[in-house]
Amino acid sequence: MFRGDRDKDTICAVSTPHGVGGISVIRISGPNALSIVSKICTFLPEHPESQRAYFGSLTADAGRAKGQGAVAEADEIDEVLATYFKHGRSFTGEEVIEISCHGSPVICQSILHQLVALGARPADRGEFTYRAFMNGKLDLVQAESVLSLIESQSQQAAKLALRQLKGSVSHKLEDIENDMTWILAHAEAGIDFSTEDIKVVDNTVVLNRLNNIEKGLTELVGTFKVGRLLKDGFRVVLTGLPNVGKSSLLNLFLEDERAIVTDIPGTTRDVIHGDTSFKGVKFTFLDTAGLRESVSDLVEKIGIQKSKEATGESDFVFFVIDIEKGLSAEEITILDGLDPQRTYILANKTDRLSAPVGSETVEKALKNSKFFQKIKDLELFRKRRMFFVSALDKTVRAKVLEELVAEFADLQLENTVLISNSRHLENLSRALENTIRTKSLVESGMGEEFIALELKEALIAIHETLGKRFDDQIMDRVFKEFCIGK
Ligand code: GDP
Repeated sequence: MFRGDRDKDTICAVSTPHGVGGISVIRISGPNALSIVSKICTFLPEHPESQRAYFGSLTADAGRAKGQGAVAEADEIDEVLATYFKHGRSFTGEEVIEISCHGSPVICQSILHQLVALGARPADRGEFTYRAFMNGKLDLVQAESVLSLIESQSQQAAKLALRQLKGSVSHKLEDIENDMTWILAHAEAGIDFSTEDIKVVDNTVVLNRLNNIEKGLTELVGTFKVGRLLKDGFRVVLTGLPNVGKSSLLNLFLEDERAIVTDIPGTTRDVIHGDTSFKGVKFTFLDTAGLRESVSDLVEKIGIQKSKEATGESDFVFFVIDIEKGLSAEEITILDGLDPQRTYILANKTDRLSAPVGSETVEKALKNSKFFQKIKDLELFRKRRMFFVSALDKTVRAKVLEELVAEFADLQLENTVLISNSRHLENLSRALENTIRTKSLVESGMGEEFIALELKEALIAIHETLGKRFDDQIMDRVFKEFCIGK
């Protein structure tokens, strides 16, 4: 992607979001950052102090302007703050200047125009982070966490990304890498001495180390599900027959009047979704067209197809039923098709029962209701978690979401190293498979050359994760997600 001589260019870009704002920050990085910026920020001293901000007027380059005969005096563009970072002490590892100007797209464009005219090049997407990686300021896992941090949409996601940026995953991988390198070195030494029948290292010691590696990798791979949920949030689909209260519950969860609530079955024809946050975790709720097999309306049919797709892609399914009506044969069939691990049943409209919502007698009333009598023996229900709710009861939101968040309660999130990136999952799963195969080679007394060959594959997977080994494909995959200015 970037590569070669282009990596020596001095690059520039607006690093704050585009549009009008209080201020905008323009980042310039590369060997000529100071010499270029000094021409328009003439207030900068010849040898500025690193990590120090200087205030002054940013002007159009007077030399160029005079040369073109356009303006005699240097034109003032803005009053700015220029922060200088010397080579080796910046995010990218290069000489960097960050210009904070007033947040007008016109001003930003004028400044960029000046910088480019003076020899800087507009940065490609992710190029600042890419340079930080190439200059050894970050490994690839940390570079990816920069993006996760920028994109984090909940407190938990931000915390997770920050921990990864500080090296939580990297340090764990480096320990695994050290163990692998140690075994590999001994296996390779063993190959050299193989004709003399000298055992360089005892098999039990090697197996101990391999067990250690396997344990570490298994743990890391096992954290992906939680890590991904914390990063991307929970996707929850509300589904069920028409008119059971899906849209009303969606509005309740989103604390918003997003879905149209009517009592005409089939009102929600498309998938309506919205985000909300609970205890620092992001939730995306999707309301779907009612799952009815026999509908004649084509639009509704398309909606139902979409809702089936949404259900398949979700982390949790809330299957809503109307407690007043009891359970239909159709609902039992649909429920049977849903994954019990991911499904919660929301028995809605409990306010219509004889006891009032929130009253202690509700449970009792439910137990005696015709509905409960009908379902209590159903195996189907025993396997699934169930909530008795009412869309009219505002406390339902916290009660239900608490239960989902509690799935992680026993994880000491602050101290657990979590992975949340599918590239890491793929690589580490590969490394785990190779480690398990290496173990069985050692156990069955295979020669060191086979052991070394297998373990090398595992080490490659670790190196690719950290970016100690990379190619264009890996770099493209990592940096294509970034925007310009990052
Ligand atoms: P959907 O088709 O499943 O999305 O159902 P809606 O949310 O549109 O609700 C259908 C009807 O049931 C509307 O008239 C709602 O006001 C009503 N409704 C929904 N939930 C409740 C509830 O918990 N209690 C009561 N009494 N009515 C509800």
